[in-house]
Amino acid sequence: MKIAFIGVGRMGSRMASRLLEAGHELNVYDPYAPAMDGLKQQGAAAAGSPAEAAEGAEIIMLSLPSPATFTDAVVGETGVLTKVSPGAIVIDFSTVDPATTKDIAAQCARKNVYFLDSPVSGGVAGAASGNLVLMIGGSEEVIERARPVLSVLSSRIVHCGDTGAGQLTKLSHNLLTAINTVALGEVLSVSVKAGADLNVLCEVFSAGLAGSKMLDYLPKTLFTAERPANFAIDLMHKDISLCLKEFSNYSMPLGQLVMQTYNAARQKGLGGKDSTSVNELYEELVNLRLAQN
Ligand code: NAD
Repeated sequence: MKIAFIGVGRMGSRMASRLLEAGHELNVYDPYAPAMDGLKQQGAAAAGSPAEAAEGAEIIMLSLPSPATFTDAVVGETGVLTKVSPGAIVIDFSTVDPATTKDIAAQCARKNVYFLDSPVSGGVAGAASGNLVLMIGGSEEVIERARPVLSVLSSRIVHCGDTGAGQLTKLSHNLLTAINTVALGEVLSVSVKAGADLNVLCEVFSAGLAGSKMLDYLPKTLFTAERPANFAIDLMHKDISLCLKEFSNYSMPLGQLVMQTYNAARQKGLGGKDSTSVNELYEELVNLRLAQN
């Protein structure tokens, strides 16, 4: 199929690479030109705008950092909708809010373009290996049309409901992930400070009800010397903000606390670090570094 991929950063580049490997024809666009270099070497054509990338494409995919960049890429002056062919499908893998999603989907529909919101979970490792979870909002019929291509990226395609339902699900998912991240940071930091062994804590937590995928993930991120930035604190902060805005009619004390924690991390200049590095705040409070031996 002829596919356009807009936004080829940490996630997009890996997803686009899999699509090329699967034999699809790919146009890519990213305002940060070096982001496209590896994909060009793999055979992708680099476009000068989202519109140029979308021209003639049957499927247009996006993986962008914010609702504003997503909106601009689809309906802006040089956006997808200025050149896209009727009947094409726009699939958004970014994490944005349901209201923006519904607005953009409606603008697509007015041009006879189909739309799926499909935020993802699984991180860069899942993007590289084709093991993302896709949380899709939109019609079953459009999902079935896109399924052969989506299957290259995911073995877990979950139809969450109508347009926007994928994003609602993803915001809930990431708020819970953020709560779990800081809960682990607080408990592990003080426990180790009090004399507990980090390896023993992890082994016991994992075997008991305190286990979680986040706990299993920390040895690849927070507990390493390099602490690779797979998913930036800035992006998690964006997701928590969107989620609390979405649920603003309800009282969410834990959500507010986690928001403050991510705010504090950004104020300390940690915004570009991995979302798990928010726990450097807890490490600082007890003056230690969480590291496994
Ligand atoms: P990233 O910052 O690594 O990549 C975003 C890319 O978008 C960059 O290359 C940037 O140059 C490009 N970009 C910015 N503005 C653009 C525009 N107007 N048009 C086209 N491209 C533009 O971010 P990422 O980590 O790949 O995340 C992308 C999206 O996926 C975000 O919404 C994020 O919340 C979500 N997400 C990320 C992860 C993860 O583990 N990194 C996991 C799940 C979901």
